[in-house]
Amino acid sequence: MLKKILYTIWLFLFCLVIFVSVKSANFNAFINVIENRTFDLRQNVMVNNKTKLPNKNIVIVAVDDASYEYILDKYGEWPLSRDIYAKIVDYIEAQKPQSVAFDLMFVKSMKSQPEADEALINTFKKYDNLFTAMNLDNQPADLRIPPVLPEKLTVNVDNLSKNINFEEQTYTNCRLILQGILDATSNIGMINVSRAEDGILRKMPLFVKYQDKYYPQLGLKVGLHYLNTKDKLSIDKLTIDKNSSLELGDRRIFLDEDGNAILNWYGPTATYEHIPLYKLIKIVNGELQNQNYDFKDKIVYFGTTASSLFDIKTVPVSRIYPGVEVQATYVNNLIDNNFIKKADKVFTVIAGVILAILTGIIVMKLSSAFVASLASLSIYLIYVLSSYYAMKFFNLWIELVYPLILALIAFISALVVKYFIKSRDFEQQYKLATTDGLTELYNHRYFQEQMKRQIENSKRYETEFSMIILDIDFFKKFNDTFGHQAGDAVLRQVAQTLKKNVRATDIVCRYGGEEMSIILPNTGRDVAYSTAEKICNRVSDRKFKLSNDKETSVTISLGVATFPYDGQSAAEIIDSADKRLYNAKNNGRNQVGK
Ligand code: GH3
Ligand code: MG
Ligand code: MG
Repeated sequence: MLKKILYTIWLFLFCLVIFVSVKSANFNAFINVIENRTFDLRQNVMVNNKTKLPNKNIVIVAVDDASYEYILDKYGEWPLSRDIYAKIVDYIEAQKPQSVAFDLMFVKSMKSQPEADEALINTFKKYDNLFTAMNLDNQPADLRIPPVLPEKLTVNVDNLSKNINFEEQTYTNCRLILQGILDATSNIGMINVSRAEDGILRKMPLFVKYQDKYYPQLGLKVGLHYLNTKDKLSIDKLTIDKNSSLELGDRRIFLDEDGNAILNWYGPTATYEHIPLYKLIKIVNGELQNQNYDFKDKIVYFGTTASSLFDIKTVPVSRIYPGVEVQATYVNNLIDNNFIKKADKVFTVIAGVILAILTGIIVMKLSSAFVASLASLSIYLIYVLSSYYAMKFFNLWIELVYPLILALIAFISALVVKYFIKSRDFEQQYKLATTDGLTELYNHRYFQEQMKRQIENSKRYETEFSMIILDIDFFKKFNDTFGHQAGDAVLRQVAQTLKKNVRATDIVCRYGGEEMSIILPNTGRDVAYSTAEKICNRVSDRKFKLSNDKETSVTISLGVATFPYDGQSAAEIIDSADKRLYNAKNNGRNQVGK
């Protein structure tokens, strides 16, 4: 009974803890941090194995530390005067690149020189494959009034997914770039990023929201331009389907509930060919004649990599990763169809349940806990390996932490249950082996074992112990008169009377037939004798119920022997008690023999 209550309380607490955990946002955030780490690990292994090669057609014109120093030396200031960018773009465009994109924002500044800005603005008018960036933010309206952005910068989005809301991608303000550039081109994309709680950038929004309109990522704009020129794919409306994925021809981008695409990484820093900006400055200034760069059909990204220019992110494969490489990776994912898809929650639950069931079966079926642990562990390892290969070959992120936690809980529970079942089986078998089925007293074998043990104990500690042997009087006649069923009933009731009238430490056994024996540890002759007399009286005083509602009386005869006075071995002691029982029978029965 107590055991059952304890089990119930334990089960209840267990379920409660699991329920509260799963429901708690903090717990989920904690699990997510670990899950994200397993993602990073998989990505790092993939990158180290060079599983996915970066697209050779993406090159980066880097404002690296050398270029930054060169610009400060030569022009005495940063940012670089915009007519220089204009000249460089002209130089690159002459080679017919796929596209040229600035991961830089040409904002109006005190240092702006109108003629230099004008030169760049004219360049934007000239080339329809030239892109630049803007960034939405949440600055208060009293710092700057939220501007109205031109309609041409928006993208038409049809969101059919119930899972995606763009709350996290919604901004209230925007810092404008040069009005001339805004007027000159519609090739302006946003460069807002999403970071996880641990500060690591794993995903990027496809578009951000501002004043109820969608604005595409710079990378998406560059990617769509690529699809348009290469695959003749013209997309004027982006439809996110019910499964939260965006179809671009035969490419698919899977979005999380905040509208982010998960990036697949190609390598640590300098994944793409880097061309230091100062070399191009030297070329357009005619200072470097024999150096040539090939920009034909390339996607050329301008961005800062200099540590002093602060556009540095932390990504799964590197702690220090320039923002422009993130942009390049994004475009690379898009054109090579390499974005990561995170497996459905339903899949995660099913995987967890299957792992848990397999674990349960293994632990229950295998007798050795050690072998069961090894077998379960092997299955978990296979699952972990599968998750790695799923990412490597199918860009699929299978969750690890939740399913493995579920499997581990199953493992522990199964072990506990198995232990309980085993110990209960053991108890039952022990009981079967040591008790008599009819009277529920200890059986003859147990009696003999205990006799030997008592003798050893008493010898070692020099103490005494007694035993009583007793036999029901005229039982043959009783059976003949009332039948064997009635005889059995009386045997059971005599057994109960014996148990009730001895100490808890005394051992009551069925010796055989209608004879019973009692071992009385640490009991001398006199106490044993008076106990025997008490039992004799209790039996003769009470009524025994028969099956047909009748009652009757029986009597017993008893013999007592005490170690060490009546013998040195079990056989001698039993013999001695037997003799006294015989005397009691001869002397008229219903008494303790002398
Ligand atoms: P005494 O007073 O001399 O002991 O006479 P008795 O008839 O009891 O002695 P005896 O040894 O001749 O008979 C024992 C009887 O006990 C024989 C048997 O039918 C009965 N008996 C032994 N075991 C059981 C049992 O498990 N159930 C029932 N109903 N009877 C049993
Ligand atoms: Mg007998
Ligand atoms: Mg008898």
